[in-house]
Amino acid sequence: MSALGTTLRSFLLKELAAGMVSTFRMMFKPKVTLNYPYEKGPLSHRFRGEHALRRYPNGEERCIACKLCEATCPAEAITIEAEERDDGSRRTTRYDIDMTKCIYCGLCEEACPVDAIVEGPNYEFATETREELMYDKGKLLANGDRWESLLARRLELDAPYR
Ligand code: SF4
Ligand code: SF4
Repeated sequence: MSALGTTLRSFLLKELAAGMVSTFRMMFKPKVTLNYPYEKGPLSHRFRGEHALRRYPNGEERCIACKLCEATCPAEAITIEAEERDDGSRRTTRYDIDMTKCIYCGLCEEACPVDAIVEGPNYEFATETREELMYDKGKLLANGDRWESLLARRLELDAPYR
């Protein structure tokens, strides 16, 4: 473009006018943004969010302390200790996940033979300290209790593909 053309464009504020026209046109179109956190977008049932340990309907823990999730975790984020109960069943005495190591690959969930450890729909668990992201068994079971209906539905939807 010649120097004269550039000067004329600057003088007539052509870019500014084009921008204003574009802004004015978009004002009457449907909004594509969401007013998060008051509005939330759709979430796939395969979304891998915060972890939870599930229970059976009678309240018994599903986890049988087989440690497959611990063995398969590529980030070595899971730590399990186990013991035998009086009734002969094997249960965890410690189930920790270091969420700062976790890469949300979902392998722990895939490895679990009893659908005990799962990744749920919750993605709003940011914290102010690293310590808060060191999850223990109590925290994971509480997550399971809190999200159970959604977790069960999610597993049901995914069952044909597993
Ligand atoms: S999602 Fe992946 S990285 Fe995170 S705890 Fe499970 S296996 Fe480990
Ligand atoms: S969560 Fe599942 S894979 Fe992990 S120890 Fe318990 S039963 Fe085994």
